Amino acid sequence: MESKLIRIAMIGNPNCGKTTLFNQLTGSNQHVGNFPGVTVDQKIGEVRGEKNCSVVDLPGIYSIRPYTAEEIVTRDFILNEKPDGIINIVDATNIERNLYLTTQLIEIGVPVVIAINMMDIVRKNGDEIDIELLSKELGCPIVEISALKNDGIELAATIAIEKAREGKAVPPVLFSGAVEHALGHIEEVTVHNMPEDQQRWYAVKIFERDKRVIEKLHTDKDIISHIEKDIVHVEEEFDDDSEAIIINERYGYVARVLDGCYDKKNKNGLTLSDRIDKIVTNRFLALPIFA
Ligand code: GDP
Ligand code: MG
Repeated sequence: MESKLIRIAMIGNPNCGKTTLFNQLTGSNQHVGNFPGVTVDQKIGEVRGEKNCSVVDLPGIYSIRPYTAEEIVTRDFILNEKPDGIINIVDATNIERNLYLTTQLIEIGVPVVIAINMMDIVRKNGDEIDIELLSKELGCPIVEISALKNDGIELAATIAIEKAREGKAVPPVLFSGAVEHALGHIEEVTVHNMPEDQQRWYAVKIFERDKRVIEKLHTDKDIISHIEKDIVHVEEEFDDDSEAIIINERYGYVARVLDGCYDKKNKNGLTLSDRIDKIVTNRFLALPIFA
């Protein structure tokens, strides 16, 4: 039987090791192109030792927002080109921030496999990550790799291809009751004619008042003002704006999950939750520069 062409997108934070992994997976079977209209490189390659399987090295991002050129390219690639699978490269030495992106990726409806990279450094530091538990909590397979040392990468590719062929999406992270209530309502009235696997992602974006998404969906004005009441209601309850609420929900989730899975030897005097709180408090530093 002729096997279908499988396309895998490699997504992760800047400097998490995407290009190193990409080069290991593809060897010299790669070419560089440009995304139409932007000056961001796209590299496509064939996975060595696999038939009909290509990988794309996408620009590094911290979040799936539509603000920087990198974010737009990566986000549009996932939503429009609909890859069969995603390898989410997670820098294990920066795990909180990297898993924040993971919580977004698993909402998009594409099967995700996490390749947890830089494991050579984690081991050298004497830190321990309970990969099995982390994988169970996140609901997606995790393969420990060191892209630099060419360790574990074939297994990561094999599992990513297998999951891409199966085509089953990862269940999304659940937020607090009030947020879920609003999202459920949004899904009901606005996104029902989007592909089912993508509905959650669109609902969250509408909750965040993402203009690009709202324009794209051509949602009726009456429906938008109706939803707006739900959103404002949650904002009053949390005393925060909807975008910040979702950021906090994601970081809160990551902190809870890591609390049980990550044993860090050198804590720098701060507990993991303290450090997460610092990230959350400093979140506005991470906001985009619109210039
Ligand atoms: P990208 O920005 O995601 O494409 O990241 P790169 O592939 O360019 O890697 C960033 C840096 O991390 C480079 O200096 C790599 O050599 C290094 N690096 C990548 N993977 C590993 C790894 O598994 N272990 C270690 N120690 N360094 C790595
Ligand atoms: Mg790179």
